[in-house]
Amino acid sequence: MTLDEILEEIKNAKQIVILTHETPDGDAIGSCLATKLALKKLGKSSDIIISKYAKMYDFLPSINEIMKESQVEKYDLAISLDCATLKRLDNKEYFENAKKTIIIDHHGSNNMYADINYVNPASPACAEILLAIFSYFGIEIDQEIGTCIMTGIITDTGGMQYPSTTADTFEYAADLLRKGVNISDICKRTLNTKTKANFELTKMVIDRMELLEEGKVAFSYITNEDLKKVDAKEGDHEGLVNIGREIEGVEISIFIRQKEENEEEYKVSMRSNSDQINVSDICMVYGGGGHPRAAGAVIKGDVEQVKEKLLYSIKKISKI
Ligand code: AMP
Ligand code: MN
Ligand code: MN
Repeated sequence: MTLDEILEEIKNAKQIVILTHETPDGDAIGSCLATKLALKKLGKSSDIIISKYAKMYDFLPSINEIMKESQVEKYDLAISLDCATLKRLDNKEYFENAKKTIIIDHHGSNNMYADINYVNPASPACAEILLAIFSYFGIEIDQEIGTCIMTGIITDTGGMQYPSTTADTFEYAADLLRKGVNISDICKRTLNTKTKANFELTKMVIDRMELLEEGKVAFSYITNEDLKKVDAKEGDHEGLVNIGREIEGVEISIFIRQKEENEEEYKVSMRSNSDQINVSDICMVYGGGGHPRAAGAVIKGDVEQVKEKLLYSIKKISKI
């Protein structure tokens, strides 16, 4: 079965690289670090290559071992974690050049771009899939691996609150808590701590919030100028999409952020409050994707144009 093939490939590989999606979240970084630590237990060294990540993840075990680039041109094996498409993969050249490739992911929109694809959309976090895989491989999940795994689970489930959270998730969490993983500390660091810049951006997002379609759609935005004004660093925009989601009557929250590299594009984040509305389907119209309740895309245009495009697709697809 696929998992045996994955173990076989890991055992056969001398040089292994671990990659994830751009602007990595807690699931992306936690999954990479957990995998590196787990491979170490199999006697395998590996490189994680991530261009940039938010400071809030500095508490994670082995975070200092993350590299920005590598001298190795052709890895024996590349493992992509938590990333739905090759387009979104950070440092994709290492993946494209690798002799063998593996995907482990939980995005329903994953388009299976590796030699071996292990994708489970029913899992609330890539990190949770890894926990099951490592157990299958007979790897002992210690406190360090557990901390990385739990960070992925906590950040992708909003602290075990989203409907994607399963009974298994709570059981895994209980096991990890017994192993000394400090779940309370992970929640505080990743969910309940705002940087000053994020706080300033929150004020702007609230100030600009529009309630559209009879209050069913919340919309807000941030421009590059705003990010500059508050001296925003990597990750400072995280969580801003949740503000609109918390308003009574809102079924879809949209938050858009101007792309740093291309002022004519916006990174869209969408969240759904209802099982009837699949925001991944809406984002896929624009080449993006994600999960039914949380998805993203990149769309060309200014704020008004992007807003109009999204409202058009929302009305067409979700019949709001
Ligand atoms: P975000 O709004 O960026 O937090 O993303 C929400 C979810 O959608 C995450 O699981 C992302 O990995 C996924 N996602 C975001 N942007 C894209 C994209 N362009 N293509 C595919 N999935 C995406
Ligand atoms: Mn992610
Ligand atoms: Mn994820």
